[in-house]
Amino acid sequence: SVRVRYAPSPTGHLHIGGARTALFNYLLAKQAGGTYILRIEDTDQARNVERADEEFLENFKWLGLDWEEGPDIGGPFAPYRCTERLPIYQKHVQQLLTEGKAYYCYCTEEELEKEREQMLAKGLMVGYSGRCRHLTDEQKANYEREGRKKTVRFRVPEGQVIRFVDLVRGEVQFETEGIGDFVIVKSDGLPTYNFAVTVDDHLMEISHVLRGEEHLSNTPRQVLIYQAFGWKCPEFAHVSLILNQDGKKLSKRDESIVQFIEQYRNLGYLPEAILNFLALLGWSPGGEQEIFSLDELVSAFSLDRVSKSGAVFDTEKLAWMNGYYIRQADTERLVSIAIPQLQRAGLIGESFDRDWVVKLVALYKEKIQYMAELPEMAKSFFEEQVVYDGEAADILKEEQVPTVIASFYEKAKGLYNWNAETIKAALKEVQKETGYKGRQLFMTVRVAATGHAHGPDLNMSLELLGRERVVTRLQNLLI
Ligand code: GLU
Repeated sequence: SVRVRYAPSPTGHLHIGGARTALFNYLLAKQAGGTYILRIEDTDQARNVERADEEFLENFKWLGLDWEEGPDIGGPFAPYRCTERLPIYQKHVQQLLTEGKAYYCYCTEEELEKEREQMLAKGLMVGYSGRCRHLTDEQKANYEREGRKKTVRFRVPEGQVIRFVDLVRGEVQFETEGIGDFVIVKSDGLPTYNFAVTVDDHLMEISHVLRGEEHLSNTPRQVLIYQAFGWKCPEFAHVSLILNQDGKKLSKRDESIVQFIEQYRNLGYLPEAILNFLALLGWSPGGEQEIFSLDELVSAFSLDRVSKSGAVFDTEKLAWMNGYYIRQADTERLVSIAIPQLQRAGLIGESFDRDWVVKLVALYKEKIQYMAELPEMAKSFFEEQVVYDGEAADILKEEQVPTVIASFYEKAKGLYNWNAETIKAALKEVQKETGYKGRQLFMTVRVAATGHAHGPDLNMSLELLGRERVVTRLQNLLI
């Protein structure tokens, strides 16, 4: 059966690349009726960030990528956090040591550095020379007495070619010459990623290892470990890198692109839009369809349509797609996203007129791409004083303006039942009375009341501004 995992290291925030890898794993599992597992790979103590793992789980929940086994819910192969699995790794390391497939290395950092320099100077490939491969018992005892720290290294067989079929890239080969005996247990006693991941993937019966291309060069090391234990390798698939708009490898420091899921969440993006967008980042459905629900992705996804080359992250497309989903979304749901946005911008406080906010959101639902745009776009609705922008000031010089404003002022003044419908009717009467219609009528009213030539639906905008503010603004233009 298909069992896949996403195995983040809790070293930072959930990155769009990580979310995409998780999504592809999820799709692979669901499509096959298999199991999607979450595992926390926290063996690099120096790089672990506090609370990062919780944040991962929160963000995955928000995205809607539910897991069937994981650190929070357990499962048949628990625990799902590497640092809780140390006895398991120790047992397996012991086995390799006993079989002579691994050995203790007492080299210090300085010695290793010196060795690297010498090898480089000779133009040799850089990998551990194997100095500690054949230590005598006496040498070992001496090092122990000196109190030297030790690591465990994997004994890489010489002169072999490691081959595996990658479900995205096809056949891949690596020569063992270039690899060098690598560390599987660090001097702090914790396993390295390559060792832990192999033991865990095997014991958790992972069928497909799908991960980012940056791990491709780790795979031969892992294959060697599988071979040393006599285990069957899982299927491997490496997904290509994400590129920035210039087609360059996206660096986490690149500020031209928002890169963390948490940030998108704060900007008021919708999870279904992010999933839809990420699915198309490196995978193509092979048709015209671009909008996919998660269920549709589950049935449409296939690894053979995952691209070998990098995928350009198109920020505008993501915003467009999010706008599409906003227009589909239930207004109440959007309101709950909008409220904290408006509060953070200082436009509303702790208590506010909720019905009014619902109408405001409904009004802008057709226009915005993501909710963080709302405070800026709608800020004139919160201002007592109207500010006429340049375009508006020019329009106010047109000949129809005094007539239209005077007529609408008279109607508005007495329109106590102030709503989009009654406003519409009042404007009809202004049209009859003044003979002005179309742009001359509506643009004049819009500009006079809002200060801008552009905006959402006029009748509704006037309703939301409120009768008093509109009447005052019209009156001020008359004098
Ligand atoms: N912890 C690794 C990472 O975050 C997982 C790689 C893998 O899936 O094997 O990159």
